[in-house]
Amino acid sequence: MDFSSKLLEKAVEEMSQLPGIGKRTALRLVLHLLKQPEEQTLHLSKALIDLKTEVNFCKNCHNVSDHTICEICANANRDKAIVCVVEDVRDVMAIENTSQYKGVYHVLGGKISPMDGIGPSQLNIESLVQKVRAKEVDEIIFALSSTMEGDTTNFYIYRQIEGEGVVTSTIARGIGVGDELEYADEVTLGRSILHRIPFENSLKNS
Ligand SMILES: [Zn+2]
Repeated sequence: MDFSSKLLEKAVEEMSQLPGIGKRTALRLVLHLLKQPEEQTLHLSKALIDLKTEVNFCKNCHNVSDHTICEICANANRDKAIVCVVEDVRDVMAIENTSQYKGVYHVLGGKISPMDGIGPSQLNIESLVQKVRAKEVDEIIFALSSTMEGDTTNFYIYRQIEGEGVVTSTIARGIGVGDELEYADEVTLGRSILHRIPFENSLKNS
C-alpha cells in the first residue's frame, strides 16, 4: 500500500495489529475515524487507554472487573462452593446470559497450548488448585471449549485436584467439538450447565 501520509500509514499499521483486521479493513476503519468529529475519536482513544490502565482482574476469579473483587464474587446469592472453570471473560458473559448458573467462576486466561508456547504456569491454574486444597470448593465444572487444548487443560487441572474430595463435572454439550462456548445459543448452553456430567464420564467417551 502506498500512503500519501506517514500519519495515515502509522494509524493503519497499528490498527492492522488487531486480530482479524487486515490492511484493507484497517484502512477503511482509519478513514472512517478521520471523517468522524474529533470529539468522537478522542472518546474512543480515552476508552481504550482507560481500559488498559484502570481495569482490574478479580482477585478471586480473575474475571475482568472495575473493582478488586468482581460483582459475581461479591454477590452473596452466588454459591462460592461451585466453581465453573472457563477460558476467558467471553465465556463468563455467555454463561451469565443463560441465567441458569448460580455458582462462581474461575477464569484461566487461556488454554494450555504447547504449540503457542502456553504452559500451565502462564495460566491462572495454581490459584484454582489452592482454592480446592483449602477446601473452599465442593464442585469444579469444566467449561472450556472441547478442542484438544481445552481437553488437555481440563485433564491437567483434573490431575492436580484428583483426590482432594472435590466433585468434578463437565458441561454436557449439544454443541459440536471445537465450537467455542460464546457461539453456543443460550438455551443449549443453559441446558448444558444444568445437565452437566461427571468429568470421569467424559474421559471414558473420548
Ligand atoms: Zn470474581
